[in-house]
Amino acid sequence: MIVHAHVDGDRDKPTLFLVDKPAENLVHLRSPAFMHNFAFDHAELRLEGVPVPGDRVLGGIGAGLKLTKSWFVEARLQIASHALGAAIRAAELANDWANARHQFERPIRAFQGVEFQLADSAVEIFAAKSMLYRVAWEIDRGADDKRLHAHASALKLFCSEVAGRVIDRSLQILGGRGYMRENPVERLYRDVRVDRIWEGTSEIQRAVIGGQIARRGLSVYTGWC
Ligand SMILES: Cc1cc2nc3c(=O)[nH]c(=O)nc-3n(C[C@H](O)[C@H](O)[C@H](O)COP(=O)(O)OP(=O)(O)OC[C@H]3O[C@@H](n4cnc5c(N)ncnc54)[C@H](O)[C@@H]3O)c2cc1C
Repeated sequence: MIVHAHVDGDRDKPTLFLVDKPAENLVHLRSPAFMHNFAFDHAELRLEGVPVPGDRVLGGIGAGLKLTKSWFVEARLQIASHALGAAIRAAELANDWANARHQFERPIRAFQGVEFQLADSAVEIFAAKSMLYRVAWEIDRGADDKRLHAHASALKLFCSEVAGRVIDRSLQILGGRGYMRENPVERLYRDVRVDRIWEGTSEIQRAVIGGQIARRGLSVYTGWC
């Protein structure tokens, strides 16, 4: 387990360290049930007087923020990818259903109200996927850490919000069946909601992006490279 703490309570010494479980004085408080349906849980733990040998400190005392930012890039890419995968699956199911389901003697995709929802989902997925590949390409090219941090925030914000909109529309196209627990879209609706919260909420991503624009200029996002 990786733990973050300020050594000696000093805000200038953000530090990451490893704690092996089970550890002395590590208390499992509870594992609350969440909205999503993942196989693993998210426990609340209390650490009090847990001994941390020097060789368990990651990167040295005070290196916690730098390491966390580099973790954020990876984690935010991972969230963007899985949110996008969920959005694609939901859109495919909605698209299939729009062919199969007939109302008023025609497939429901023949109604513009349904067709436009599919079109909006396809375009948003197209944009999000292009953005994801661009940031992955920048990583392959060895772009500098600050730039990657800025772009990973934008990517996580956009993909998680696109997924929320696409899955919501897909559920709407499926009608009452989309609301049934037996339908994968119902599960995806619950599973991706957390993506707008963890690893920095959408509001925090916007604050990061606003700060990047103020410090480096709009071209961090509007320029090509
Ligand atoms: C299932 C799950 C698993 C998690 N796993 C981990 C984990 O493994 N490790 C870990 O460290 N954390 C984990 N978290 C915690 C997660 O990162 C936090 O919940 C998240 O960062 C938001 O913090 P908070 O819940 O304290 O909300 P708060 O910070 O209290 O925010 C509440 C609301 O206020 C808004 N807000 C707060 N500050 C600002 C601001 N400056 N500007 C604008 N709006 C603001 C937020 O956007 C949000 O809408 C997990 C959370 C969940 C739900």
